[in-house]
Amino acid sequence: MSVDIECVVVGAGVVGLAVARALALSGREVIVVEAGEGIGVGISSRNSEVIHAGIYYPSGSLKAQLCVEGKQRLYAFCDERGVDYRRLGKLIVATDDGQRVALQRLLDQGLRNGVDDLQWLDAAQAQALEPALSCVAALWSPSTGIVDSHGLMLALQGDAEASGASIAFHTPLLAARCIEQGFELQMGGAQPMTLSCRELINCAGLSAPEVASRIVGLPAQHVPAPRLCKGSYFSFSGRAPFRHLVYPAPESAGLGVHMTLDLGGQARFGPDVEWVDHIDYRVDPRRADGFYQAIRRYWPGLPDDSLQPAYSGVRPKITGPTEPAADFIISGPAEHGVPGLVNLFGIESPGLTSCLALAERVITAIH
Ligand SMILES: Cc1cc2nc3c(=O)[nH]c(=O)nc-3n(C[C@H](O)[C@H](O)[C@H](O)COP(=O)(O)OP(=O)(O)OC[C@H]3O[C@@H](n4cnc5c(N)ncnc54)[C@H](O)[C@@H]3O)c2cc1C
Repeated sequence: MSVDIECVVVGAGVVGLAVARALALSGREVIVVEAGEGIGVGISSRNSEVIHAGIYYPSGSLKAQLCVEGKQRLYAFCDERGVDYRRLGKLIVATDDGQRVALQRLLDQGLRNGVDDLQWLDAAQAQALEPALSCVAALWSPSTGIVDSHGLMLALQGDAEASGASIAFHTPLLAARCIEQGFELQMGGAQPMTLSCRELINCAGLSAPEVASRIVGLPAQHVPAPRLCKGSYFSFSGRAPFRHLVYPAPESAGLGVHMTLDLGGQARFGPDVEWVDHIDYRVDPRRADGFYQAIRRYWPGLPDDSLQPAYSGVRPKITGPTEPAADFIISGPAEHGVPGLVNLFGIESPGLTSCLALAERVITAIH
């Protein structure tokens, strides 16, 4: 069976759904092909669900631009579409005098990125907000929040479908080749078929480099090597110790073991940083030792035996532990020369926050 379609999006995570929505709203005919059984079976269901303010990222990077722009769009979208969220605010804490410098750097970086609502708090001011907190200083970010990521994906799917897009589940992209005026795609699953399309957008998350490497006609130098960086979470069994999100000064590959709250008010800690060579989502209970140590720096009252292994996610990195963190890559025809093709690589955090802004950039990158 062979089907002709204007535009194919690979992957029904938060980014693929946001892209499909934007393409459908622009009047295109869109199919999303998803290997799994439903929306959000990948990274989009294995994260902290934090709406980031945009503080950490290098000036001018896509991460900085799309996080700040994406945050605003996301809050507006959630209001419009009734997606559950809370603008809880977050404290980034320095737990010794040496970390004040890191905090000052974050404040400066945040200002450069357009995050103009950050406030420097001394220990007493931070403790007035969070009495259980131990710190020497903190940055207060009032625009950080949490969102129901599944509700967000359902709303994106709803908009995309209302504008004529459809989603084919259990439909992995197996192979593709560039043909005159587009692509020929081999789809697997229960009903294997050939699709042809004019535009192909690769939003396959952790598999994006692999999917791109299967596109015959795309030069290999435009496909980065995937690097996997696992982050595990532990849940806290008691009453949440804080009312706001609490983050330590950041680590190299992640933002540090932080405390977030879910929309039900339950506290969880994570993610830590573990470079891996294959995906295994089980959480090793022995990693709890590192959590107790990291958390007690800012919450000395953490009781023994109060953390339970919860879940994990894997960051779709494209640089390794000894290299500087890469920016988001939106690789379109201007970079690789193949008309109609956009590959998204390295869409780690803040990808959830940035999804609506990323989708707009994809549209402009297609031509
Ligand atoms: C530990 C962790 C914490 C994070 N915390 C935050 C946070 O607090 N805030 C924030 O903004 N961001 C956060 N992120 C980042 C955010 O979760 C991601 O940027 C975002 O979910 C990426 O979405 P995606 O659609 O690109 O990928 P995914 O959700 O993984 O979607 C990709 C989809 O492609 C499908 N697919 C793969 N191969 C194929 C194929 N061959 N054919 C068809 N379909 C295929 C997969 O099944 C999957 O459904 C975090 C990430 C991690 C790992």
